[in-house]
Amino acid sequence: MRHYAIAAIPADGIGPEVISAGIEVLKALTRQDPQLKLTFETFDWGSDYYKQHGVMMPETGLQTLKNFDAIYFGAVGAPDVPDHITLWGLRLPICQGFDQYANVRPTKILPGITPPLRNCGPGDLDWVIVRENSEGEYSGNGGRAHRGLPEEVGTEVAIFTRVGVTRIMRYAFRLAQSRPRKLLTVVTKSNAQRHGMVMWDEIAAEVAQEFPDVSWDKMLVDAMTHRMTLHPQSLDTIVATNLHADILSDLAGALAGSLGVAPTANIDPERRFPSMFEPIHGSAFDITGKGIANPVASFWTAAQMLEHLGEHDAAALIMEGVESVCVRGILTPDVGGTANTAEVTRAVVAFIEAKAAVAATA
Ligand code: NAD
Ligand code: MN
Repeated sequence: MRHYAIAAIPADGIGPEVISAGIEVLKALTRQDPQLKLTFETFDWGSDYYKQHGVMMPETGLQTLKNFDAIYFGAVGAPDVPDHITLWGLRLPICQGFDQYANVRPTKILPGITPPLRNCGPGDLDWVIVRENSEGEYSGNGGRAHRGLPEEVGTEVAIFTRVGVTRIMRYAFRLAQSRPRKLLTVVTKSNAQRHGMVMWDEIAAEVAQEFPDVSWDKMLVDAMTHRMTLHPQSLDTIVATNLHADILSDLAGALAGSLGVAPTANIDPERRFPSMFEPIHGSAFDITGKGIANPVASFWTAAQMLEHLGEHDAAALIMEGVESVCVRGILTPDVGGTANTAEVTRAVVAFIEAKAAVAATA
């Protein structure tokens, strides 16, 4: 028996809708493979918890999470709680506390989904964005002086360290090396930002020497948006800072059809702590409670979670299920369909069950 303990933190908005859908799919997998056991413990942390307790999670939160094999996370953000409180109160403390320094964001056009770009279909866009997830622009450094006065100053200081940049660069080169095209694009803004960004470029060139079989190039982040839109075929693996990759990956999600299909894994590559898996999207108040949130991102990130746990067959089965459902047009409105969250979920579960039935009679 292979047993994994999963901590589920659905949190806010559509988070609970897509995480419960993902858990249904994961449970279907365990029915299909009796040797695979997944146990879930759900934590009610998030904005409602904050309104009751004044904190997004208990002080002992990380201590509690440490005992799990992985964390399955929904989204944070509520209309009546400032975004910096929700983000810094829950998601960032977990990413930073568990040193999940590699944020891995695969994007591809799923068959059956019509992307917004003309002449661009499945196969033309198949990327993995690696986002530095522990420092950079989201280090939380900065301050404000002379609050409210005409001379007020606010600073937002990005911190880049040699250790931090080298380890994410190695991760990205290794990932690029494992993919068929062995192609890495290193993104910075080293024309206008002449300190930490120039260091990125230099460290990229140093680490590149360890990976002679990987072709790599450099892009400025503004030009990168142009290239992603007009020449998606020219890209494969991409590495960028915390802020740049945050922005580029929302663009990537949109180019693949919707943020609703974009997954992300916050990985501690050294496996000292549990890693965390979540859709890229936020709590999407505009559609919360309507039952139409696209659950594909949360299914895909569940597959990333299984992959990380070494359950490659189970991960592949989820993705096969997702693709089969998309091809048959069982899609939520954000990707042009009329199905709701429950219908997409039932269809993926049915695919997994049908596979199991075929395997049992074979
Ligand atoms: P968002 O990702 O919540 O929504 C952007 C747009 O995409 C909306 O129109 C939304 O309806 C749509 N969308 C997102 N996910 C979808 C899905 N699964 N299915 C269908 N449509 C989907 O971003 P936002 O509106 O800028 O932010 C809302 C809140 O979420 C804010 O409080 C923000 O801070 C927070 N946020 C949290 C995270 C996170 O928890 N990791 C990430 C981004 C934003
Ligand atoms: Mn984001």
